[in-house]
Order: sequence, then structure tokens, then C-alpha cells
Amino acid sequence: MTKKTPITVAYGDGIGPEIMTAVLTILNAAGAPVEPDVIEVGEKVYLSGNTTGIPDSAWQSLSRTKVLLKAPITTPQGGGYKSLNVTIRKTMGLYANVRPCKSLSPFVETHFPNMDLVIIRENEEDLYAGIEYRQTDSAYQCLKLITRGGCERIIEYAFQYARKFNRKKVTCMIKDNIMKMTDGIFHQVFNEIGAKYPDIEKSHYIIDIGTARLATKPEQFDVIVTENLYGDIISDVAAEVVGSVGMAGSANIGSKVAMFEAIHGSAPDIAGKKIANPSGLLNAAIQMLIHINAYEKAALIENAWLKTLEDGIHTADIYNPVHSKQKVNTDEFAAAVIKRLGEKPTHFKPVVYHVPVHGEEDQQGEMPSQLAEQKLVGVDVFINLPVCGPEVLGEAFRTLTLNLDLQVIANRGVKVWPCGQIQVLCSDHWQCRFQRSKELTPIAFEEVLQLLGRLTQAGYQIIKIENLYTFDGQRGFSLVQGQ
Ligand code: NAD
Repeated sequence: MTKKTPITVAYGDGIGPEIMTAVLTILNAAGAPVEPDVIEVGEKVYLSGNTTGIPDSAWQSLSRTKVLLKAPITTPQGGGYKSLNVTIRKTMGLYANVRPCKSLSPFVETHFPNMDLVIIRENEEDLYAGIEYRQTDSAYQCLKLITRGGCERIIEYAFQYARKFNRKKVTCMIKDNIMKMTDGIFHQVFNEIGAKYPDIEKSHYIIDIGTARLATKPEQFDVIVTENLYGDIISDVAAEVVGSVGMAGSANIGSKVAMFEAIHGSAPDIAGKKIANPSGLLNAAIQMLIHINAYEKAALIENAWLKTLEDGIHTADIYNPVHSKQKVNTDEFAAAVIKRLGEKPTHFKPVVYHVPVHGEEDQQGEMPSQLAEQKLVGVDVFINLPVCGPEVLGEAFRTLTLNLDLQVIANRGVKVWPCGQIQVLCSDHWQCRFQRSKELTPIAFEEVLQLLGRLTQAGYQIIKIENLYTFDGQRGFSLVQGQ
């Protein structure tokens, strides 16, 4: 007898229990080797006073099984409730969001019947790290944090995914023409890791043109790897373009734990009517089966599901008089899939999931990581000053400073002193760059402290500082626009 893998199951809210029941019935009928451990998370838990929506017992189950199949959750209206998805993603380090978008034409309407792509989105870093500050009356800041390690992990995952699922191309989408350091390192790591996969085609798009292309020629893409914010946006563009938002599942993968769910919500408008389409959650469950190496069962269920769709057996959300033959409810749809277990689709290409040969999954290898020589060469001091002319500030700072020279003052990233852009609308947020007159000469941190002391004594309000470093002699900071 096949050994069963324990999985944690959350029935969720709204249509959640209806679609989860249908999905588990299909898994059971297919003989999927899973042993569900049911937890209670979501609305009831929130309303009992737990602002995370997740009780301790749920964490214990998840720590034990390391696999979560989750139906959608309703986050109650009103403040104070934390997003359950974000909490699980962050607590469990689920760094990769994987979202396949495949056309189901003509049964689900789309202009792109040949679209078949997967978006792999970095899930932990970027502007979504949630590091935000209000710094002055007028200025608000959100930190875009990208690490080399984070890039390596997601990009390696994308190439591994392409190889495992026999996909031919990986496309990197970012904006490194503007964000030369943060998006630049993502692109650089993409090139470095891509070189280890000569069998896979590589391409790169700036995110804006890439998104436009995704919306107009999605057949050109295969696997797309990108950062968190861009990935969030293009995932929804792709789901909309393929037309099957209600049918797609997604995976959130960590090094130890993985979570699988439908991409739609709890659909309170149809909850309790037993008419919901269980396909999104079923597709998530299929990804889960692949994750636990139950390849044959995953293909068995997916082929039966595709056959059900092409036989015209449809739930109300996708029913149309031209391509549908029978309108069914949630349970009847599940029964139709079960009846077709063992059959292959003829309109759609039958799926086959190949079992990786031994060692194939261990090709990751460590990137050679040499620590660069880091030297302090200056400081950006950010000052809050509501009304001020840049010339006045420039002159005042020149007389105040000792051995560090004021090089440039910028406002909202644009140089305003010396000889700055006079048409710039200045806010109360001033970036003042101090270095030695010979630009990249190393300085001591004590000199920064002395400078900060003198500025404070002179009555300036320092909001924050950013140290300016070189790494192996290369500038580790951007030049001010116009510098
Ligand atoms: P929704 O996805 O629940 O519903 C949008 C529309 O799609 C509705 O008309 C709904 O009836 C329909 N729909 C969705 N899934 C369907 C299905 N399987 N079968 C048939 N029709 C389906 O989005 P919403 O109304 O914006 O959100 C409702 C609730 O879901 C909110 O509380 C939201 O916070 C939550 N939500 C949860 C998740 C999650 O748990 N991952 C994701 C998105 C939204």
C-alpha cells in the first residue's frame, strides 16, 4: 500500500467548505496518497478575537505536515484583522508564488487559445516587505529591499521549474533601466543562473513593455520570473487575459512548507447555494500532488477534469449555450470528474507529469559567493526643512562642515544645488550628500558622527542618513539625477 502523506486542510469560508468537500471527494476517489488533518482558520477565528485568524493548533498541524491545502477565507470588514495569507507566507518563508495560466478555450472564452504560461513571483522582498516611513509632513517612504540571496533563490527555482515541467523558455521581467541597483541585481543573477541552464532559452523584458506584450501576445511566454510587486500585477493581467480567474490555482512554496489554494475568493454572493466551481481549488490540489511527488495521481485527476470540461459538463459560472451540454452543481461536477478518472481528453492535450530522475532535483548548487571589499566613502543626510531655498541651505552647510564636503543637494531625487534644476518643485525633504572632494576617498564613520553633531547643534532636523559605500571600488549608491 502506498504510504500516505499528511496534509493540513482548511475548509475556509463562504464557498470554501463546498468546494473543499468536492475536491477531497475527487482526491479520495482517485486514490491520492494524502491524509488530511483539518484545521479551523479564517472568519470564525478572527471573530473569536484572534486578529491573525490562525489558532495555535493550526500552526502545530502545519509545522507537522508542512503542506497546506487552503480554501478561500473571508477577512471580516473593519480594522485590526491581519491578512491570513500574508501571515502564513511571512511566518513560513514561502518565497515563491507559482501561478499557471493556461487557456481552456473554447470552454472558457479568451482571445488567446494558445496561451500557456506560468508566472513565478518572488514573494518576500521588494516593496512588499512592508518597510514604510512617514519622514516629514509631506514625504512618505516605502523601502524596496532586494537581496542577492532572494534573487538567487527565486531565479534558481524558476529554472528548476522550467526543467521539471519541460518548459522551454524563462523570461525575466523587471525595470533595471531605472532601478539599476535593485532590479539590476535581479537581472545580473538571472544572467548568472541562466548560464547554468544551456538547454533553456532566456529572454528579458522591461516590465512595462513586458506587461503590454503579456496582454496582447501572451502565447510568446512560457515561464516568467519577476519581483514581488511586478509579479502581483502581471499575475492578475495574465489571469484576466486567459479568462479563467475562477479556474486557476496557485502555489506558495517555501524551503520547508508549501501552501496551495485557488486564486479566487470566498464568493459570499453564492455561498451555500452549492453552485460554485471547484476547479480553482482542484488545480491547486493537483499542484500539491506534484509537490508531494504523486505525479501519476496528479495527471490522472487533471486529465479527468479536462475531459469533463470538454464533454461540456459545466458549472453555472462557465456555462454557455454553445459549448456547454449540461449545467451542474458543485457536487455533480465532482461526480462527473470522478466518473472520468482514467479517461484522457481529446480536445486538450493530455497531461503527463514525469517523475524526475534521481539527482535531477539536486542540481541547484551554491552560487560562488565572495564577499566584496566594502568601504565607507560618504553619507547622505536627509533633512526636514519646510520652507527653504536650496542656495541658502547649500551655503549654510558649506560653512558648517569640517573635512567632509557638501557635494550635492537633491529634492525628490533631483539635483537642486549647486546649479540645480530651478523648475523643480521642492518639498520639505532634502537629501544632502557629503563626501571628500575627491569623490570615492574612504572616510571614517567618526567623521559622519561629527558632521551629524554639527548639523544638529545648528538646529537642523535630521530625518535619516544613508551611508555611501563602495564595493570592490564600485559605487554602491545611485547618482542624484543631474549630478
Ligand atoms: P471572489 O473571488 O470571492 O468573487 C468574485 C466573483 O467571482 C463573485 O461574483 C463570485 O461569485 C465569483 N466566483 C469566485 N469564485 C467562484 C467559483 N469558484 N465559482 C463560481 N463563481 C465564483 O472575490 P471578492 O468578492 O472580491 O471577495 C470575497 C471575499 O474573499 C473577501 O472577503 C476577500 O477578502 C476574500 N478573498 C480571499 C482570498 C483568499 O483566501 N486567498 C482571495 C481573494 C479574496
